Amino acid sequence: MTSDQFSTAVLDWFDQNGRHDLPWQADKSSYHTWISEIMLQQTQVATVIPYFERFIARFPDVQSLAAADQDEVLHLWTGLGYYARARNLHKAAGIVARELEGSFPQTVEGLEALPGIGRSTAGAILSISTGRRAAILDGNVKRVLARFYALDGWTGSTAVMQELWLYAERNTPWHRVGDYTQAMMDLGATLCSRSKPKCERCPLQQDCAALAQGRTAELPVPRPKKVLPVRQTLMLMVQNEAGEILLQQRPPSGLWGGLWSLPQATDLRDAELETGLALELAGAKVLAPLRHTFSHFHLDITPVIVRPSDAGAVMEGAPRLWYNIQRPASVGLAAPVKRLLAICQAC
Ligand code: SF4
Repeated sequence: MTSDQFSTAVLDWFDQNGRHDLPWQADKSSYHTWISEIMLQQTQVATVIPYFERFIARFPDVQSLAAADQDEVLHLWTGLGYYARARNLHKAAGIVARELEGSFPQTVEGLEALPGIGRSTAGAILSISTGRRAAILDGNVKRVLARFYALDGWTGSTAVMQELWLYAERNTPWHRVGDYTQAMMDLGATLCSRSKPKCERCPLQQDCAALAQGRTAELPVPRPKKVLPVRQTLMLMVQNEAGEILLQQRPPSGLWGGLWSLPQATDLRDAELETGLALELAGAKVLAPLRHTFSHFHLDITPVIVRPSDAGAVMEGAPRLWYNIQRPASVGLAAPVKRLLAICQAC
């Protein structure tokens, strides 16, 4: 199959079967495309749709996003995960609004210079919003190409990535490049799925090497397994007389950067030090632990409900607030903290 035949087969399939009514397809501006592409990283379309709609309703253009507080941006991101995406989005909006007079760069290299935009995302934004020829290689496209060409080796390795980019570049057409980008993402998401690909409906089935070799289940080769270490922490749910819970803001970078979280301690004896409050530790109630898994470790969280013995005490250190579960403040919350606050509401 030549590259022309490849792209024609994919585009013909897209015309009949692709998704044409996604909210970010109504206005293919650089801004809308950028927001949707960042949200879609490691996240399913169905999950992204309501987040995208809320985000665009609140921040209709790059200027309004640049002018917002990071807290509000993180609040609208709560639940989507990978919060560095939201922090980078906010930073990049500031650069576009203040340094580039509100216009997005019109080259892959220019887009890649903005925080949070890699080569594939830059290609997607450029091809969809301007129609300029640029290749993409997101997770879906990697899977399609790794199977179509039956590439051995983990797709995250440098050698396989280089090969995948060569194929991605070669197959990208000169015309209808935005549709082709969308088509490849759709094909990977709907037909060439991780498990049980629907090869019988695939426009590439005639020449797909993985299908011909009966290797669709084993390709692409998964990341070599490593055992994740387990870390332990107490999360202190300090509840005052009004039923409000003490939250602290995390440092701007690193784990849950900029989000609001419960104070943590490795030992209950450190709880007063970590919270800056005198606490009724004898009456502390320890709840069943829960596990939160990051890409590089498991965090086993033991929640502890405890009351302050002097709610009026002066607090120093990280920014803090008393979170009212009935009237929640518009702040970004780490995912397990959101779960724990819901548990606390019920207890
Ligand atoms: S034929 Fe099957 S494995 Fe090959 S690209 Fe299509 S869906 Fe994927």
